[in-house]
Amino acid sequence: MIYLARPNLSGREWEYVKKCLDENWISVAGEFVPQFEQKIAEYCQVKYAVATSSGTAALHIAMRVLDIGPQDAVIVPTLTFVATVNAICYTGASPIFMDVCSETWQMNIELVENYLSHHTYYKSGFYYDKTTHKKIKAILPVHVLGNMPDMKSIERIAQKYNLIVIEDAAEALGSSYFNHKAGSLGKVGIFSFNGNKIVTTGGGGMLLTEDYEIAKHARHLIHQAKINGREYIHDEIGYNYRLLNILAAIGLAQLEQLPFFLEKKKQIFGFYCQELKEIGFIPFSLTQGVECNYWLSTFIIPSNVDKENLLDFLYQNGIEARSFWKPMHTLPMFSRFKYFTYENVAQYIYQRAISLPSSTDIDLQDLQKVVSKIKEFVDICVD
Ligand SMILES: *Cc1c(COP(=O)(O)O)cnc(C)c1O
Repeated sequence: MIYLARPNLSGREWEYVKKCLDENWISVAGEFVPQFEQKIAEYCQVKYAVATSSGTAALHIAMRVLDIGPQDAVIVPTLTFVATVNAICYTGASPIFMDVCSETWQMNIELVENYLSHHTYYKSGFYYDKTTHKKIKAILPVHVLGNMPDMKSIERIAQKYNLIVIEDAAEALGSSYFNHKAGSLGKVGIFSFNGNKIVTTGGGGMLLTEDYEIAKHARHLIHQAKINGREYIHDEIGYNYRLLNILAAIGLAQLEQLPFFLEKKKQIFGFYCQELKEIGFIPFSLTQGVECNYWLSTFIIPSNVDKENLLDFLYQNGIEARSFWKPMHTLPMFSRFKYFTYENVAQYIYQRAISLPSSTDIDLQDLQKVVSKIKEFVDICVD
């Protein structure tokens, strides 16, 4: 099978994990967790990084440390992985869904501005939704596929409407915006180290911030809100969200490979573009100022090609390719929340986009096989 995005453990993963096993430090205590945090913080040039058990956990903690709750609303693109919206809903807050841009596939800023200027009212420092009366507390851009939205405009809007910027950079480790690393641009940013992400710990996440109090509170919450000391005293409702040392060991080794991963992902994307553009496959275009990590090569397929049949055909030929996310506003548990759109771009991308094998250990022969099988199928469609 040619896999979509499998872990590449060709670095010092084994060596570091062995060290954990040899020295008995496999759980939450141990040297690799702070080392991994520090390396990520350095790489992204932020002051604080707090390792968590998943990207979803990091998002949930982001909501908690920013005091987002049932009276609040968070602006979020409808084209994202479900975890983004689940984290908002864990707190009782409401998502407000925005469609994405047809070129970049990132949150449409014009829609956001339009919503804020026409559907909200101002009261003592904050803006409130006219119908739900929820406080618009935060804006949560998602860096879909390692591309990023127009962060300058988001920053401007956030200032104008007093919104907190939370970055879901789960897919964007290594991407940057005018030389600022993804994850470092908001009040809080998060990464995921899930198995398919560019850097993986098997499962894990990270919360990034410049703010000492936020970092401290995040660390407190992920450790069951336990007060330092010998006794078991807890001062609020916390979580068991810490990253294991044995996983941080893998993460540290993965980070050492990141420059190579970035290079390889770019080559893979470049190869697909070169080979598939001629048969009408369309990639997203980069937002101005973005350096992309090309985490997962994803394309809009030609209109005469049936997506399900293509995916089946590829699968039968030993190639794992995938559909893209169903827009969040169409999922049953989120359908009661507001959605703003001009042309329902997210729905179109969902219907027409597929992700192609993008593992960093893929070789040229496998890439050529993917391309030739796609061409074979597309030829049948044309006939
Ligand atoms: C992977 C991902 C997450 C969740 O990360 P987990 O580590 O799987 O919990 C959140 N948001 C986006 C956009 C993702 O791609």
